Amino acid sequence: MDKYRVKPGSKVNLKKWDPDDRSEFDLSKEERDEALYPLNRKLETLQELLYAEGKHKILIVFQAMDAGGKDGTIRQVFEGANPQGVKVASFKKPTHKELSHDYLWRVHKHTPANGEIAIFNRSHYEDVLVVRVEDLVSKKVWKKRYEHINNFEKMLADEGTTILKFYLNISKDEQKERFEERLDKKEKNWKFSLGDLEVRKKWNNYMKAYEDMLEKTSTKYAPWYIIPSNRKWYRNLVIASIIIDKLEKLKMEFPEPQDDLSGVRIT
Ligand code: AMP
Ligand code: MG
Repeated sequence: MDKYRVKPGSKVNLKKWDPDDRSEFDLSKEERDEALYPLNRKLETLQELLYAEGKHKILIVFQAMDAGGKDGTIRQVFEGANPQGVKVASFKKPTHKELSHDYLWRVHKHTPANGEIAIFNRSHYEDVLVVRVEDLVSKKVWKKRYEHINNFEKMLADEGTTILKFYLNISKDEQKERFEERLDKKEKNWKFSLGDLEVRKKWNNYMKAYEDMLEKTSTKYAPWYIIPSNRKWYRNLVIASIIIDKLEKLKMEFPEPQDDLSGVRIT
């Protein structure tokens, strides 16, 4: 799966990253639906261990264009995880109060504590994406943010946070299909807003902003992964595999009991 990691310092041309790629799992239709189940169970066990051991903090960031699959990924990849140890933070348009602080203020309080997994549905990266494309601050201001963000994430990493960042890469055509589904199905209407069409018109500008973000903020301590996401099943399998691999490398162990339990008899 390392081929999906953006190597620090490398150039990113999103045209060269195929959103339809499925070279890691070439599964039949029947196999696809079943393949995630064992990974869900593995993740469930690893999360239990993380929570019990209470030594590591995990931060997982999801960024994507509208209908890119952030919500679905979170729901499907973390299916079965213990809600006690997993927190999801969704970052919407900042409130008046949030805007009167620096842009990392609202983010920092959602970072994980020991034993926790924090999942960011959108993140501080909106502050170099939508904020840049929509001209919400001047170039002089957003340009400096890549360095701030790298320093912020370095601090989190130095203090014991394992950081993984996923860009869900869908094509413009795939977005069209998913938007049409949101319009056609009554129970999906709520996910669609007219503003999404305005953002879609600026697709190329967003791709440029994403490329810069991926190039400038993929680091050894907080790597970006560009996930082929036109196929939801493939996206889920790749992301679950990367997270499992990372958690396994932490070599976690269940803690020793606080008391000597060897002579205990329950009467
Ligand atoms: P959704 O994730 O579809 O509920 O939409 C959330 C909206 O909030 C998106 O249009 C984001 O671009 C927007 N948003 C998130 N963070 C920021 C930010 N820092 N500044 C401006 N807009 C933001
Ligand atoms: Mg939306």
